[in-house]
This record gives sequence, C-alpha cells and structure tokens, in this order.
Amino acid sequence: MRIWDCHVHCDGTENGKDVLKAMDAAGIERINLFSNYPWREEGGRKVPHGPSSYASREALRACVEHIAGVQATDPSRIYGLAWIDPRSPYAVEEVERGVVDRGLRGIKLIPDQWFPYDEMMFPLYAKIEELGKVIMFHSGIVYGFGDSSRYCKPVNFEVLLNFPKLRFSLAHIGWPWVDEYLAVFGSFWSSVGYDKEKTRMFVDTCPGTPDAWRTDAMRKAVPFVGTGRLMFGTDAHPKSLERNAPRHISRDLSILREVIGVSQGQLDEFFWGACEKFMAE
Ligand SMILES: [Zn+2]
Repeated sequence: MRIWDCHVHCDGTENGKDVLKAMDAAGIERINLFSNYPWREEGGRKVPHGPSSYASREALRACVEHIAGVQATDPSRIYGLAWIDPRSPYAVEEVERGVVDRGLRGIKLIPDQWFPYDEMMFPLYAKIEELGKVIMFHSGIVYGFGDSSRYCKPVNFEVLLNFPKLRFSLAHIGWPWVDEYLAVFGSFWSSVGYDKEKTRMFVDTCPGTPDAWRTDAMRKAVPFVGTGRLMFGTDAHPKSLERNAPRHISRDLSILREVIGVSQGQLDEFFWGACEKFMAE
C-alpha cells in the first residue's frame, strides 16, 4: 500500500539524502515536510516570539532555503512547506519567493499571538489562494507555544469561507475539540452544496488525539468527513520516522479495519489518495 505522510517536521539540520533514507526505512513513499520554525533565541534556547517580536526577514528566508534544499534532493517524494511567522511584514513576499522561485508546495502555520480570523492574515491567504498552493494549519490544543491554544480553536478557521479557492488542512482533528472541528468541516462541505469532492478543507489526522481518544475521534471523522478528505500523518521528525511511522500505521490500520470496517479502497484514500488530492498541482 502506498503511504503519504502528510505531516513531518524538520529541525533545520536535515539533508535530503538522510530524509529519503528515513522514509525508505519507515516504508513511506512521500511526505509533506515542514521547515524549521523561525524561533527566537533566549538563554541558548529556541522559544516562540511572544507578543512583542516576530521573525525577521532573514529568519524566514533561512527556513525557506533549508526546506527548499531538502526538497530539491527528490521533489517527487519530498513536498516542502515553509513554516513561517505570518506576523512578519515580509511574510507574503518571502512565501511568494519560496513558492515561485524555490518550488515549495505551501506553508505551515501555528496560530500564536494571532487569530486565524485577524484581518492581518488576509493578504497571506489571498496570496496562497492565488498561487494555488495549500496552508496546513495546526488546530487543537498546542504544546510548546505557551498560553496559545485559544488561537487554535477550530471555529476560528471558519473565516476561510471567504477565500473560496484556498485548499487548507487543520491538524490533529482539532483534539480535544473534535466535535467542533467536524462541525467546521460541515460548514465548508455545505458551502459547496454538500459535495465532498469539492470540499477544500482537508482533515490532517496526525496524532494529537492520544491513543485513548483516537478510536472515538476516527469513528466520528470517517463517516462524517469520508476517507477522500482524511489524510494520514505522523507529526514525526525525519530522525524519528523509522521508529514512529510503523506504530502509527499499524494503529490506524487496526482502527480503520477492525473497529470501523472500511474497504481497501477507503484505506488507499486515507493513506494516499486524500493527500494526493490536497496537494494537487
Ligand atoms: Zn506538527
């Protein structure tokens, strides 16, 4: 079975050869790979920017350049996305450069010190929509960004109804707000006349849902969303892919086959087809 991991993170030290080696060892054919975040240094530690600073142009560009270099090793297997701080006044320009000049496939965003519905975000949404690329958002409780989960509630993303050609995903099935998340999916589904094939919100199912909640979340998501919009992901790093991916694959396989009872065609959609539609170029 072909496997496309929709959600893998770089730490900025990777090279393309090692990433491909890790994918082969993990049994993964293709990945969406996020750049390192343009962190701020404080006392020798990498920390989020907080309310009073944002990433510099150089920091954004360094993230774009690193992930573009990794992707260039094999752009048919490694789909690079830049994880940026959208509060930077250079965000739109640097993203456009990353996509047009360096061939990146989209961007990754974690709302922190900004809400998805802030008007400040609209030029970036419009640019990605115009470029025909994707935004992969975090949603749900967020670990590692301090007091910022309130920015990531699923309902905050309903504003994207105003960008009708923008394809986007929300990660972690919004855990612990799975029901709210699925209701938001319903809103995007209804906006295209209840046509799943036209629905441009995609569900990034990478864990976030701890194992004890995952079966319940998938039992709700599979029938409501359909496997055509449900994407497999690990939220691993290339260095941990070999160790983590087989565990995630077998856990999801057993939930989908044994608890929910999906067909082989639905499994193929979950592990490959949904992401292929999402990343369509
Ligand atoms: Zn992640």
